[in-house]
Amino acid sequence: MVVLLLAQVILFSIFPLYFSFLSGSLRRTSFYTYIALVLLIGGFFGNVYSLPITEKINISGGNLCYGAFMMASVLFVFVERDIFILRHLVRLVVLVNVFNVSLSLLVGKILTTPGIINPHSISAALFDVSIAFIILGGSLIIAELLFLFYCFDAVKKCQWSYPVTTAVYILLFIFTLCLDGVLFPFIAFGINPVVLDIVIGGLSGKIVMACSFSIPLIFFAIIGHRSLSAYLANDTVKWSSLFTINRQLKRELSEKNYGLKQAATVFNNVKEGLAVVDTSGLIIKANPAFCSMVGLSKGLIPGVTPIHTLFSSADSDMLPIDKSGHWRGEVKFGKASQGLLTITPVGAESSQAETYVYSLVNIDELKETQNELFYLARHDPLTGLENRRVLDEIITDLSAESICLIVVDLDHFKDVNDSYGHGAGDMVLSVVGQRLLGTLSSIPTFTAHVCRTGGDEFAVLIVTSDKEVIDQLSQTIQGACKSVITLPQGSEIYVSATLGVSFQGPSDKGDILQKADSALYAAKSEGRGSIGYYEEKLTSVSQRKIQLSVKLKQALEAEQLQVFYQPQYASATKKIVGVEALVRWYDAELGWIGPDEFIPVAEEMGLIEKLGEWVLLTACKQGKAWLDSGIKDIKMSVNVSAHQLRFGQFMNTVKHTLLKSRLPASMLQLELTESSFIEREQDVIPQLVALKALGIQLAIDDFGTGYSSLSYVAILPWDTLKIDRSFVNRLPEDKAQRQMTDTILQLASNMDLVIVVEGVETQAQFDYLQSKGCEIIQGYYFSPAVPADKIIFPTNRSTFVRDEEL
Ligand code: C2E
Ligand code: CA
Ligand code: CA
Repeated sequence: MVVLLLAQVILFSIFPLYFSFLSGSLRRTSFYTYIALVLLIGGFFGNVYSLPITEKINISGGNLCYGAFMMASVLFVFVERDIFILRHLVRLVVLVNVFNVSLSLLVGKILTTPGIINPHSISAALFDVSIAFIILGGSLIIAELLFLFYCFDAVKKCQWSYPVTTAVYILLFIFTLCLDGVLFPFIAFGINPVVLDIVIGGLSGKIVMACSFSIPLIFFAIIGHRSLSAYLANDTVKWSSLFTINRQLKRELSEKNYGLKQAATVFNNVKEGLAVVDTSGLIIKANPAFCSMVGLSKGLIPGVTPIHTLFSSADSDMLPIDKSGHWRGEVKFGKASQGLLTITPVGAESSQAETYVYSLVNIDELKETQNELFYLARHDPLTGLENRRVLDEIITDLSAESICLIVVDLDHFKDVNDSYGHGAGDMVLSVVGQRLLGTLSSIPTFTAHVCRTGGDEFAVLIVTSDKEVIDQLSQTIQGACKSVITLPQGSEIYVSATLGVSFQGPSDKGDILQKADSALYAAKSEGRGSIGYYEEKLTSVSQRKIQLSVKLKQALEAEQLQVFYQPQYASATKKIVGVEALVRWYDAELGWIGPDEFIPVAEEMGLIEKLGEWVLLTACKQGKAWLDSGIKDIKMSVNVSAHQLRFGQFMNTVKHTLLKSRLPASMLQLELTESSFIEREQDVIPQLVALKALGIQLAIDDFGTGYSSLSYVAILPWDTLKIDRSFVNRLPEDKAQRQMTDTILQLASNMDLVIVVEGVETQAQFDYLQSKGCEIIQGYYFSPAVPADKIIFPTNRSTFVRDEEL
């Protein structure tokens, strides 16, 4: 008998257990059908047989169906986690009962109708059921179901551990089933001793049946613990919604649906590829973006395509090892696309096990930009050659090799820019860059690189220490640079290059680039177009130059230079009639650096334009400040380097500076040396004429030290002539100097030029020059150059102490 009982329980349980692991609507349909069937046949089996387990314990077929119904309903609600399932179940019980009653009545009637065929002689009494009993049974089932879930909910709120909660659930299940055995007889037949006997007699049967049906529930609690945990984690039931009328329900549902629809719209329309994947790596769902990115057809069959086959660099370790965490990484997918893949584990949904959301973003464009940026950071955009940064890297990489570095500096490249414009300059640079690359074909067996290291500077690095090879290559490079470059408009440009060469062995220390630069400096001082080889003795001189040029650039940018002013006195009245602005540079590491040293560096390094502009503006502002404080009739003299006149921009700079400082042009005097216009008259003379037209005064500086070509003095609109201090240092005792100064003074007065004599240090010198009618005196005899606030104007002789440091 026990075996028979177990066989039935197993038969009744195996289906709902199986359904619990189906998915979606298939699961729900199966459950509903099964529960309806069990309810229906329960009505008949109650009368068909009874299973005597022992003498006292009896379990009817109807009772077994009742147990199966309760067990299946509990499983169903656990799996669905939806309170409306209860509502549907209630409805189902009502419907089946109505059907049951009607069918029983009908069949009972049919069987008692005379002439009916009843081959198995089934008793009409089997269907002769009392309608009241069926209704009561149905109502009790509903009440018990609701009661059971009400208790479940109450237990859920206690938040006990999983085993405790499940144990309590099982006990509640058994209790409710037994309750049925008590309630039904009492309600149906009233409370009296006979009924009490029946109840007690039937109770043991109910207990056995209830315990038997708790076995599948325990089984489910173990193997389907994910589902049950999810049920327990869900919100508790909103009982009121069970009893809401349909319209309200519909509204609630439509709100819920709206949310779902919105989520679906987002899922289907985002540009990001999204796929839901199960734990075995099969795709359950994917949005259109994902499908089109990885080339899946839109009619994807869930649970068939393994996700890892879609990513070329991805293999089985694509699934995060730590299942609680995220995974993010770059992958390749589709034809040759690159993507950023994020894998996020999400909690179990319904009966389904845990899933992963794969979100894929195409990063092709990003990668392209990244590569472009990488390229740009390492290449010169004009010539396409690698830049200084790459050169440094290559040199570091080759530190174990013997290498040679040739720096190539184009001669007078600025002239190209000035004369033909920057477009032409750019073209020359890119042609030279290509030609330099071409020269490497003359040494095909050596590893070599060509880089552009600066404005008009290139570097060729060769992995060799063979001097002969380098000599040959240097010649080839110079030859390549020298070939004529024809501009689009037809002009022909001739360029030449000066080269600095240095070698470095595997054990050598020091900066090979700096050594090559030193060699270049040396070569330049020998004459443009030559080749210089690095020698150890070069360094001290040229290293200082390199150091100065680097520091000067920084100092200029940080505005760390200063302008001092050396007063010029009228010899007759000993009053200040003007000042000469002289630039000063104090470096924290190197101390005071004289302009005689750093001005040539600035000229060579192309910094003079900026430096000159800054001095001019500073001096003009100072002149204006003095003017504003009531000091009139003084001239502000500013030195102008020959290089400043080369760039054709000087005129604009001066105009702009006067505007900005609001210094009257008549107060400004520019000092130029003869070298400014040697061989450049055509260029320079119009600029000087234009400057004069602005009202600015012009002075010939250092007169007598250069070419002293009188023709320049004659054809140019000079105002002042400054006699260099080398003509006065041995006055008055030196006869030659006396004759020289006398002649220049005579010449100047004939030409109506104001004479300024600089470098006057002694009383004797002063007296002599004064006696010769020299008008303006500048020199240590009166004052060296000092900061602006040290010059005291009201008194005729500025009172300051000669300060060696200044
Ligand atoms: P320079 O134009 O001939 O300037 C006069 C130089 O003689 C100044 O030297 C001045 O300090 C110095 N000096 C003045 N009186 C005496 C004296 O009694 N005895 C002696 N031994 N020297 C005296 P500094 O300031 O060192 O300037 C040297 C040169 O640097 C200047 O010669 C000028 O050619 C150049 N320089 C200075 N400042 C600037 C500037 O702002 N721009 C440009 N382009 N060149 C500048
Ligand atoms: Ca000067
Ligand atoms: Ca001078």
